[in-house]
Amino acid sequence: MQVHTIGDGAPEVAVVGAVHGDEPCGARAIDRFLDTDPDVDRPVKLIVANERALDRGVRYIDADLNRSLPGDPDSDQYEERLAAELMAEVEGCTALGIHSTVSYDRAFANVAYLNERKRELVAHLSVEAVVDFSVVSDGRSVELPRFVDIEAGKQGSEAAVDNAHDCLLAFLRTTDVLPGDPPAPDPDFYQVTAPIHKEPTRTYRFLGENFERVEPGETFATVDGGPLTADEEFWPVLMSDEGHRVLFGYRSQYRGPLSAVHSTTDSHTERIADDVTTD
Ligand SMILES: [Zn+2]
Repeated sequence: MQVHTIGDGAPEVAVVGAVHGDEPCGARAIDRFLDTDPDVDRPVKLIVANERALDRGVRYIDADLNRSLPGDPDSDQYEERLAAELMAEVEGCTALGIHSTVSYDRAFANVAYLNERKRELVAHLSVEAVVDFSVVSDGRSVELPRFVDIEAGKQGSEAAVDNAHDCLLAFLRTTDVLPGDPPAPDPDFYQVTAPIHKEPTRTYRFLGENFERVEPGETFATVDGGPLTADEEFWPVLMSDEGHRVLFGYRSQYRGPLSAVHSTTDSHTERIADDVTTD
């Protein structure tokens, strides 16, 4: 793991790239930012998490880092140990994780257990959509009380690096690391309700568009050429033919603009928040 600290003092703000090694946009956005030799008003940590997987161009070595939090320093699995290191690095920090996808070419934010702090962070990213992954957040960074993620665009694309860099600057303005006002786009809010699993031996074709409503009765995909039909309306998220061996994507519900959505005052959030100093 690479940790670059800029500014004086102990950082309370962190940006994390390369949680997945086959998503280089975060590490490249961090490099682009560091190359400008930035002046900061508050110290910040810039973390390239899974360097070993990044060097090999693979998602992970032993286990998915973003399903391994809080990790285990004594594990024989590389990412379990790395997850424990990452937790120690981001402890006490407000953090942005940077990811990319094979399913969608524009940037969107991911959250879980939305609290006021996270709402403020995602309200000021350069994104059109925010997705709540609370129902499937186990072991993911977005479960933490002051951690939000972005999906910056298509894996390996220059556009994803540009989007990641825009979101990095926006996040650092919201957290007062950099001067200036971040954007305030009032993105659309979607709540994931369930994953749609794949049978790895079968061939799936997605016929719809992510974030566009699928109607009840609509054939939104084919499986080995046969129709896959929606029982009720949903909005697909991270849905793609080849994205994942056993996961086709997620069903979500559209909840309106972020400004109209209440934070979840969930016992889970409060339980985690008790362990962490808030500002
Ligand atoms: Zn990722």
